[in-house]
Amino acid sequence: MINPEQLAVSGVRKLTPYQPGKPITELERELGISNIVKLASNENPLGPSPKALEAIQSGLGALHLYPDGGGFDLKSALAGKLGIEPAQITLGNGSSEVLELAVRTFVEPGLKVLFAEHSFAIYPILAQAVGATGVVAPAHDGTKGPRFGHDIKAMAEKVDPQTRLVFIANPNNPTGTYLKEQELRWFLQVIPEHVIVVVDEAYCEYVCVPDYPNALEWLVDFPNLIVTRTFSKVYGLAGLRAGYALSSIEIADLMNRIRPPFNVNSLALAAAAAALFDREHLERSVRLNNEGMRTLCSAFSERGLPFIPSVGNFISFDVGRDALPVYQALLREGVIVRPIANYGLPDHLRVTVGTETENRLFLGALDRVMGL
Ligand code: PMP
Repeated sequence: MINPEQLAVSGVRKLTPYQPGKPITELERELGISNIVKLASNENPLGPSPKALEAIQSGLGALHLYPDGGGFDLKSALAGKLGIEPAQITLGNGSSEVLELAVRTFVEPGLKVLFAEHSFAIYPILAQAVGATGVVAPAHDGTKGPRFGHDIKAMAEKVDPQTRLVFIANPNNPTGTYLKEQELRWFLQVIPEHVIVVVDEAYCEYVCVPDYPNALEWLVDFPNLIVTRTFSKVYGLAGLRAGYALSSIEIADLMNRIRPPFNVNSLALAAAAAALFDREHLERSVRLNNEGMRTLCSAFSERGLPFIPSVGNFISFDVGRDALPVYQALLREGVIVRPIANYGLPDHLRVTVGTETENRLFLGALDRVMGL
């Protein structure tokens, strides 16, 4: 009998799949409860933009047709808004797909992919899947930069001739820390040109600090730069799957060679283009996030729970003991958050900033399960 395990490529054989946040329906099935609060996947608690919903309605009648494989309308909308050429854009089935396209375009066995400690769990998986070596640069210990945040000097020191691609999540998930403009620019300047630098800006629209860089502006200076963004977070379209990469035209052309045909569906294309111009929804989402973030930070402080200051729409806090039982007890209370032991933070939980009601329900449940 053939054992398929032995036939699988070596990178895949050793892989442990990405663990997403627990879906509401799964917890409903497991515990037979309803009114669940899910704050586990950094989704927008306000839901999708109404303009996106209208675009979806109008697109339903054409579902028998393949989508525009070139994504002309969405690329034009993005190019107009961001001031770049449509040919610099690669569309993906979520930004996860463009991250994968970048790795598959540039990395092969024998090469290295570099990322920071406590950074997004997809990066090591992508590296391993193509048979490359994932290299982890230690995060800040709190003396020279924000504790748990990317240490850009340590990252630069890890680069060697085999390094082909670096992932920088800015802001980073799950820590919510960010690299300042001068830090990131310094990194791009010192990094050899044979290294592709992917700056993952999945949460950029939420960031409200003045020294946060817009890496997009540097595409002209750095031909090895790829910036990725998504419609899953502030635009509230995680279920539709749309994301994009911005790069030189040459890099976009290379990634396009392996992009699956019709990788972004027609409703996602239409909804994303509409959401992009729904300023009101974006501003409301950011405002709600800022208010909720303040509420959560003060609540953690009042309870003596240390947290990692975050510029995203989520925050990781230290429960002072193994966080898994706290996570499980929260599930029984109908609240789903995210344990992050797999990110090297076994005493922390990550919670997405929800609506005022969701935040209150989460804090009430936390008090009960931790006896606070
Ligand atoms: N990058 C980061 C840092 C993320 O946290 C996520 C989502 N968890 C993604 C990329 C991918 O999101 P999506 O595929 O939905 O665009």
